[in-house]
Formats: sequence, structure tokens, C-alpha cells
Amino acid sequence: MQKIAIFPGSFDPITCGHENIIKRAVTLFDKIIVSIGQNSEKKNYFTLDQRMVFIQTVFQDYPTVVVDKYSGLTVDYCKKVGANYILRGLRTSADFEFERSIGQVNKKLYPSIETIFLLTLPEFTAINSSVVRDILRHGGDVSQFIPEGLKLR
Ligand code: ADP
Repeated sequence: MQKIAIFPGSFDPITCGHENIIKRAVTLFDKIIVSIGQNSEKKNYFTLDQRMVFIQTVFQDYPTVVVDKYSGLTVDYCKKVGANYILRGLRTSADFEFERSIGQVNKKLYPSIETIFLLTLPEFTAINSSVVRDILRHGGDVSQFIPEGLKLR
């Protein structure tokens, strides 16, 4: 059976932290679907299309990494695309508590799904999309926090 993982998130925008988790997971899975969850209540900084293009650009040389979008329950989306793993990154104990409950509920909803966690590298612990957005809003330089080669303003 193919090992297919989804890496769900908002990616508004993709950061070095996301990029690192995905690249480290490439050898673990046959395919990784980076899936942008669409949440109508969330006001996004970048449009869905922009966020998808950013991720596609970063992973253009990674044939097993694809980009998609979804709405609704993550486990329903996993069933639809045939994914048996949900990949998540862990930065802090707060991340752990948040992820624990979601992971346990997802397992109840879809018993054959496994959530796989990779610990962030220490240098990426403080990086998140909301910090990047704040810097962008105030005209700052985000280049050290986002994947090399991406130009965001
Ligand atoms: P969400 O919308 O669920 O907050 P994000 O787009 O912020 O999603 O992140 C998606 C995934 O990437 C989550 O598992 C999150 O923990 C992980 N992640 C975000 N930032 C980092 C980072 N700096 N290092 C490692 N993992 C990260």
C-alpha cells in the first residue's frame, strides 16, 4: 500500500518551518499532499491561489510533493484522496496539547489514519505564519523566515 500523507494547514504564507518539516518527511512517504484547509471564518492575508503557488514554487523539484486545497473535515478529505497519514509539526508544548486532542479525535473518526509528528528544529521554533504576516504588514523584511527564493511583500 502506498504511504500517502497530507500536511494540512493554512500556509498563510508557507514558512521555513513548514518547508523543513515537509522536506524531512519526503523520505518517509510515497506522496505528500500539502493541503490548504479553507476556513471561511478566517480572514487570510494571501489568497488561496497565491498560497498554493508559493508552495508549488518551493517544491517544484520535489515530484512526490503536491499541493491541494480542501474544506470540511480533514478525515473526510483523507478518505477522498486515499491518505493514510496526517503529518504535523510540533514546536512547543502548546502545539502538543492542541495536536493531541485533534489527533485523538481524528483517530476515533477514522481509525486507520495515523497522525505523524515531526519535531521542529530549534532554529524554527519561533517561526510561524502570523509573525511573518505581522512583519509584512509593517513593511519589514521576512526573507530569513520564508523559503529561499520566495519573494513576499
Ligand atoms: P494551522 O492553520 O493548523 O495553524 P499552519 O499553517 O500554521 O497551520 O501549520 C501547519 C502545520 O505546520 C502544523 O502542524 C504546524 O504545527 C506546523 N508548523 C507551523 N510552523 C512550524 C514551524 N516553525 N516548525 C515546525 N512546524 C511548524
